[in-house]
Amino acid sequence: MTSHYDIIIIGTGAGGGTLAYSLAPTGKRILLLERGDFLPREQDNWSANAVFVKTKYQADETWHDKDGNVIHPGIQYYVGGNTKFYGAALFRLRREDFGEVKHHGGISPAWPLTYDDMEPYYCQAEHLYHVHGEHGVDPTEAPSSQPYRHPPVSHEPRIQQLFDALKTEGLHPFPLPLGILLDEENGKPKRNSACIRCDAFDGFPCMVNGKADAQTICIEPALKHPNVTLLTNAYVEKLDTDKTGRKVDRVIVRHGGREEIYSADTVVISCGAINSAALLLRSANLFHPNGLANSSGLVGRNYMRHNNSAFMALSRQPNPTVFQKTLAINDFYFGAPDFAFPLGHIQMLGKSHGPTVEANLPSWLPFAPNFALDYLALHSVDFWITSEDLPNPENRVTLDKNNQVVLTLNVGNMEGHHRLVKKLEGMLDALDLHPYLLDRNLYLGKDIPIGGTAHQNGTVRFGVDPASSVLDINCKAHDVDNLYVVDASFFVSCGAVNPSLTIMANALRVAEHLKMTLSG
Ligand SMILES: Cc1cc2nc3c(=O)[nH]c(=O)nc-3n(C[C@H](O)[C@H](O)[C@H](O)COP(=O)(O)OP(=O)(O)OC[C@H]3O[C@@H](n4cnc5c(N)ncnc54)[C@H](O)[C@@H]3O)c2cc1C
Ligand code: SF4
Repeated sequence: MTSHYDIIIIGTGAGGGTLAYSLAPTGKRILLLERGDFLPREQDNWSANAVFVKTKYQADETWHDKDGNVIHPGIQYYVGGNTKFYGAALFRLRREDFGEVKHHGGISPAWPLTYDDMEPYYCQAEHLYHVHGEHGVDPTEAPSSQPYRHPPVSHEPRIQQLFDALKTEGLHPFPLPLGILLDEENGKPKRNSACIRCDAFDGFPCMVNGKADAQTICIEPALKHPNVTLLTNAYVEKLDTDKTGRKVDRVIVRHGGREEIYSADTVVISCGAINSAALLLRSANLFHPNGLANSSGLVGRNYMRHNNSAFMALSRQPNPTVFQKTLAINDFYFGAPDFAFPLGHIQMLGKSHGPTVEANLPSWLPFAPNFALDYLALHSVDFWITSEDLPNPENRVTLDKNNQVVLTLNVGNMEGHHRLVKKLEGMLDALDLHPYLLDRNLYLGKDIPIGGTAHQNGTVRFGVDPASSVLDINCKAHDVDNLYVVDASFFVSCGAVNPSLTIMANALRVAEHLKMTLSG
């Protein structure tokens, strides 16, 4: 196999996959290096027991926290990255999120770009990832220059009731923007719709390729171009630089049990925020003694992952909803009448399944006969609550002596999150739900809070000043001339909405820059 390429992209998730899609038509010779394989299409894709209880698809990887405790991160290594499992709620950050925002727990810093800079790329990403939604109904959303190309996913009757009851309470619920290959009529998928509107959306991979994930939407089309090559099971161990220290000239890969070396004019890292930082740290050399591109000392620092909670409420009437993830609430995103700081965002989760209800039981019910489990599964209504966590340089990725990840996390800025949970709890009665919330931790992953790495971001931040950022405004390393990073690690702050659309939009923005650079 040829070992020199125009571009090497390491990682095929939201960032790397989207970049590959955008660069494929340039005719440049592109090598994609992915540590995982294609996810097998099999019945276990839709088994709650296999996915959540047995964690069949989770990486078999052991990290540690700063005190040496073992962490099993909720992370997946496949072509398409974590988007194979995501809930595909594809939100734009709010206009205010790009500026400085005061929180109860501190300051959420400003980005070096504005909402208006990102807006055209948000449109492109929404169209590419088939986002179904409606602009102009989320009270906190900034204007969009183009409509979504697909209408919102319809609510099933119980969720429509919730929607109406929330409106009666004076709130502004809106349809959750979803990246999904669903074509429906009267609430039912049409004959040719890829998505069949089943109960396995959110946390499950899609057996029938109905979810707009990075493999389906980006990698498969990119591979149709003869100039694009994908190497799976190809773990990038290290990047080496030439003798100026300013150019990556060797990409060292463990593939099929042996070491292989590749090189490219441009190298793009997109391994996810934790693994990208780890790769840079592993790549320390004479010119970069503290890690590649780390003259600022910031590689691995300011790790964020949102303050998240997953809850199950119990409906007084049965909730036979199959596809539940269709509604969101942002009324408390920036604050509440009794709290001047941001609280965060609420959205529906995919419906609880029997095995996950049962596996969650010990934390809140000592004993439950079968009829109780059946009752719980039939009556559950499930919510996801996200609040912003703030960048803290002490929250960081480092390596132990075996080059394994050590993750340090000091949970902060929780007051707004606790208040948001209380707000939701306070509404339950009016929504015809029993007035208490039960943990649904399995969705988040085990070893919560530190194992909950789903929304990881911020470890290789971008900026204008090389002293306070690792990447420049185009996501090129300040210290290295041919090295870019396009996954979630460039985030300066993370707002309180799901991160993927911003990762995808940014990858399209960086692709535009690279196309100009490469053709120049
Ligand atoms: C259960 C779950 C639900 C989620 N729901 C949502 C949601 O509804 N909305 C949303 O916006 N986000 C959601 N997310 C988060 C979303 O999946 C991530 O934000 C997104 O995938 C991150 O993109 P990325 O490019 O940074 O990394 P990833 O998508 O994780 O891609 C990184 C890729 O790099 C590969 N890789 C890592 N290290 C190496 C190496 N050394 N060599 C070669 N390859 C490597 C990995 O295998 C992977 O393919 C969810 C995540 C999970 C787990
Ligand atoms: S709801 Fe649609 S996209 Fe989700 S798993 Fe089922 S068929 Fe796939």
